[in-house]
Amino acid sequence: MTYKNYSTEQLRAIDNAHHLHPFTDHKDLRQAGTRVIARADGPFVYDTEGNEILDGMAGLWCVNAGYGREELVEAATAQMRELPYYNAFFRCTTPTPTLLAQKLAEIAPDHINQVFYGSSGSEANDTALRLVRHYWALEGKPEKNIIISRDWAYHGSTVAATSLGGMAAMREQLYGAVPNIRHVMCPYAFELANPGESDHDFGLRAAKAVEDAILEAGPENVAAFIGEPIQGAGGVKIPPESYWPEIQRICDKHDVLLMLDEVITGYGRTGEWFAAQSMNIKPDTITTAKGLTSGYQPLSALLVGDRIASTLVEKGGEFYHGYTYSGHPVACAVALKNLEIIEREGLIGRVRDETGPYLHEALQAGLGDHPMVGEIRTFGLLAAIEVVKDRDTRERFQPEGSAPVVIRDHAIANGLMMRAVMDTMIMSPPLIWTKETIDMAVDRIRKAFDTAEKELRQGRR
Ligand code: PMP
Repeated sequence: MTYKNYSTEQLRAIDNAHHLHPFTDHKDLRQAGTRVIARADGPFVYDTEGNEILDGMAGLWCVNAGYGREELVEAATAQMRELPYYNAFFRCTTPTPTLLAQKLAEIAPDHINQVFYGSSGSEANDTALRLVRHYWALEGKPEKNIIISRDWAYHGSTVAATSLGGMAAMREQLYGAVPNIRHVMCPYAFELANPGESDHDFGLRAAKAVEDAILEAGPENVAAFIGEPIQGAGGVKIPPESYWPEIQRICDKHDVLLMLDEVITGYGRTGEWFAAQSMNIKPDTITTAKGLTSGYQPLSALLVGDRIASTLVEKGGEFYHGYTYSGHPVACAVALKNLEIIEREGLIGRVRDETGPYLHEALQAGLGDHPMVGEIRTFGLLAAIEVVKDRDTRERFQPEGSAPVVIRDHAIANGLMMRAVMDTMIMSPPLIWTKETIDMAVDRIRKAFDTAEKELRQGRR
């Protein structure tokens, strides 16, 4: 029996009866009902009612190579036939995680040569948190264990990852965070820059907040700073160019490790394999997941720099940490093939030289003059549009976050999947998008803004 034996209504009813969804208000979901996405191909997803939707979010920022890749199906099938599972505990390994680790060391920045696997970005960040604290303990400085993070950071949903994160609503539901994690302002110039303050100066000020936190805690007590190169789920907040070099300087000066969370930005999205390369950052750890397999299998890889790795090896002692699926052979087989596809098709260079710049131009041309657009930001194939009621004063629609939801609903009705985060519309499409796909998307966004504007200004929504 397949799902095709069920009507959409039946699937919805079963879903309502049994399925608790991630990040969902279930009372609201019971009333609104679910959209059942049943298949996908190339840049499109299809629901059970036959709607074709251009996927502007690459699933959840992950389907970098696009849908319908037979080669990935074959890689998974062949590996399942040969060895569906074996673990990497007890002095064992299997071939695919080994070869994938070699490949990751090749594409990562030069000083990064080791990999620790998990199944999700959250798990990888848990690993990263434990690893940096373990590193300092091995170095004889167990008191150096405070982590500095930022408001609006998203690092995942496990208790440790939520503790690292800076989303107020999530933190309220922690009911007890992992201790010794502190948060500072994020580099979100659109809302936080002072009147007349240049982007450059704002970037330095936002970085100084990190240094202030380090000094307040005492550098001898601070293990690491963690940040997404571009805050994704927090609203595609792209920092000013002055920010990351200053963060690097501050971390180096105070001997604080630099942890980058590239779960979204990794594997080509910024026009290089990693944003660390696009932005010239030298991190001690890089958390990656999502685009590693283009979402075809759950897999994360924490890339570990030589400084931490050599201490682990030289000092020895067991690192009491790992998951049943660390180095899952099928997920790693899919990742290897996925990286091969990204490389063979030159998707990263295309993002850097062609589609990335074109996305910016097309959004500016299509929406730059829209009365409800306060700012358009892009970096590679990541985009954000700030939604305002008044372009000049940057006044927002009330209540907070209400207008983008209206735009999003119209975008989906027009055949484009986009996401609304507070007062920002965001996009993170598959790297296979061409200029034509971008034109199609921008046309649909413009229409969604126009329809939403009529409704919002007339108070109909
Ligand atoms: N870090 C970042 C930057 C993310 O965007 C996400 C997921 N959106 C995660 C971590 C968590 O990844 P996962 O959902 O696979 O646990």
